[in-house]
Amino acid sequence: MTHGFDTLQIHGGARPDPATGARQTPIYQTTAYVFRDADHAAALFNLQEVGYIYSRLTNPTVAALQERVATLEGGAGAVCCSSGHAAQIMALFPLMAPGRNVVVSTRLYGGTITQFSQTFKRFGWSARFVDFDDTAAVEAAIDEDTRAVFCESIANPGGYITDLDAIAAIADKAGLPLIVDNTSATPYLCRPIEHGATLVVHSLTKYMTGNGTVTGGAIVDSGKFDWSASDKFPSLSEPEPAYHGLKFHETFGPLAFTFHGIAIGLRDLGMTLNPQAAHYTMLGIETLSLRMQKHVENATRVASWLETHPAVESVTYAGLPSSPWHDRVAKICPKGAGGLFTVALKGGYEACMTLVDSLEIFSHVANLGDTRSLVIHSASTTHRQLTEEQQVAAGAAPNVVRISIGTEDAEDLIADLDQALTKAGG
Ligand SMILES: *Cc1c(COP(=O)(O)O)cnc(C)c1O
Repeated sequence: MTHGFDTLQIHGGARPDPATGARQTPIYQTTAYVFRDADHAAALFNLQEVGYIYSRLTNPTVAALQERVATLEGGAGAVCCSSGHAAQIMALFPLMAPGRNVVVSTRLYGGTITQFSQTFKRFGWSARFVDFDDTAAVEAAIDEDTRAVFCESIANPGGYITDLDAIAAIADKAGLPLIVDNTSATPYLCRPIEHGATLVVHSLTKYMTGNGTVTGGAIVDSGKFDWSASDKFPSLSEPEPAYHGLKFHETFGPLAFTFHGIAIGLRDLGMTLNPQAAHYTMLGIETLSLRMQKHVENATRVASWLETHPAVESVTYAGLPSSPWHDRVAKICPKGAGGLFTVALKGGYEACMTLVDSLEIFSHVANLGDTRSLVIHSASTTHRQLTEEQQVAAGAAPNVVRISIGTEDAEDLIADLDQALTKAGG
């Protein structure tokens, strides 16, 4: 029986606890699990039987969350991990090796740009940044050493929507997996696998948990990519020396990437999500659709109001008819363009600093996707490590603030922005 999204966000992955009947998924606060006998232990370590060994690898609370996220994204399986940035490393780890590259969009979360352009070098990996609206440039950037294509569905810091179908077609032609960061959209607004994504990564820290309590990440596998079609992905298609020569793709089929992520990724990288955090995230996901509807409704009202304000130069919300990406909303995220956008002020850098200091309901924080409305001046904070050219390319120019619209009353948010814009010289 197939169920709707609102049903799955509550019931996906969860069932009454087999030991106690507990209706809410318990927090299994344990490091290890007793083996039935020596044969059971050996079978678990051989991956011949699925079960629990040690919580760096698997934990029942985390497993319930994994199943829920995989279900909502329409994937074959998912691995949860300690943060969104951990998810990005975990997604690329089975695919990459020294000398390999990944072709990525210029429009990404600021921390992702830093991780990709700086920290990757330590692994001998590289990222090639390309404007993903220039499909010829995306194709041209792919070479023999490329192992993945990476973008965000609704891209940070706000407004831009990637034409996922066009990018998926390019990745497919090159025999490469497309990895989509779906953090800003969530599976309620966008389901990247339906547009050809191979893997979907999440920062669960944001809308998925929804109330700014924990950090977490997830990698969802569509189960659709043929890892054995070329010799490019030996860790999945060939005998894997890190797991006594096991051939993951041959053995696990559509679950190869998921099993690899647990048996090798979590085992050796250790970026594990703890069961408390998984519990908070599952509570959050129970109301995901209700919150996202309100985020979209509020963002549309606030962005429309801001666009007409005399202190405002421009607003980047794709939900506005003025956005160059407005026509992608219906195709990529039919339930709305999310809760994030940026505002450029005529008063420049100084006006932005005054605005963030004058707001009362909005909190000035380096976070997004909270029930609370949040604001940040990206150029002086999250995007500070970037050159001005990179800032502009990422949509975080010095006169731009990023706004994450919460689920408060839209009238209150507008009144707060109005008084702060007046102080900022509107
Ligand atoms: C926050 C965020 C990340 C990083 O996630 P963490 O949980 O903070 O590590 C990655 N991508 C996007 C789009 C984000 O918003």
